[in-house]
Amino acid sequence: MDCPKCGKQMEEGWLAIYEPLPITRVVWQPVEPGQVRVKKPEGAVRVIRPKAGGKGCPTGHICKACEMTVFSYAESDVT
Ligand SMILES: [Zn+2]
Repeated sequence: MDCPKCGKQMEEGWLAIYEPLPITRVVWQPVEPGQVRVKKPEGAVRVIRPKAGGKGCPTGHICKACEMTVFSYAESDVT
């Protein structure tokens, strides 16, 4: 995959969470996060569902020059 910012080849890997808790929620959301979050905002999409043994991590690509990541949260792209 090419970087959407600079166009160079991106490095493949996984997005991962270390020391995940059952309550951990990683979402994409359409509004800027505030200081206090009681619940996810309307329109938010859960993109990582951490599971035991390092499971639940989506594959993705990184461009370290641009500090850009691109990943899919489709079930078929999650290990
Ligand atoms: Zn780039």
